[in-house]
Amino acid sequence: MIQYKSEAEIEAIKESALILAKAHGEVAKNIVPGVKTLTLDKIAEEYILDHKASPSFKNYNGFPASLCISTNENVVHGFPSGYELKDGDIISIDCGVYFNGFHSDSAYTYPVGNVKEEVLQLLKVTKTSLYKGIESAVYGNWTGDIGYAVQSYVEEFGYGVVRELVGHGVGRNLHEEPEIPNYGKRGKGKKLKEGLVIAIEPMINLGTKNIVQESDGWTIRTADKRPSAHFEHMVAIFEDRTEILTSHQYIEENYKF
Ligand code: MG
Ligand code: MG
Repeated sequence: MIQYKSEAEIEAIKESALILAKAHGEVAKNIVPGVKTLTLDKIAEEYILDHKASPSFKNYNGFPASLCISTNENVVHGFPSGYELKDGDIISIDCGVYFNGFHSDSAYTYPVGNVKEEVLQLLKVTKTSLYKGIESAVYGNWTGDIGYAVQSYVEEFGYGVVRELVGHGVGRNLHEEPEIPNYGKRGKGKKLKEGLVIAIEPMINLGTKNIVQESDGWTIRTADKRPSAHFEHMVAIFEDRTEILTSHQYIEENYKF
């Protein structure tokens, strides 16, 4: 069942999302060649705990960290390790915050140092596809309109749209109904009504859309081991507008590409 939110609940989600946005900003300052991904996780976790919130992902179904950190061919659900970022990598940082009874969830993919032009384009196109999806997330539209907007844009570039992992409702639970696929048909799926709060999160592959799960039980990577990008925002649907609840502002103040 879809849990529609009141304006007061959406205001509470925005408080959670502000802590999340600033935690991302702290991580962004430290994305440089040579940094260990474990260090990034520690920075985010400390920031979240210092603001009387808790990391949504830690221990979620047994997940071992505060951030999902997925480099290069890893699509999502990777976790931090002693791996040191190197020039030419890309790194997806997905973070969730629980505060005041509500979760917030957003993700960003960064180039590390000098990244190949075709990979940089993947990042730019995937980020733009998120905003194409958001433009279609308006009152009276359908979840299929969001998926169609993302898919039709990125497929022009020959990219693969991951099918098995999708966006979702967010609220008192990290993952709620409805599912928000990054592919689909206009006018299909669930209707977007007042009070719907969803995470839209394109996961776009440079090559094949197919994915496999690594033997660590978490990390999802592309089947052809070519790079994958992931950007995520949460939005709230109102009859007269759609509001983006999460923010990449603190990332982009510190990190330009
Ligand atoms: Mg999400
Ligand atoms: Mg996420």
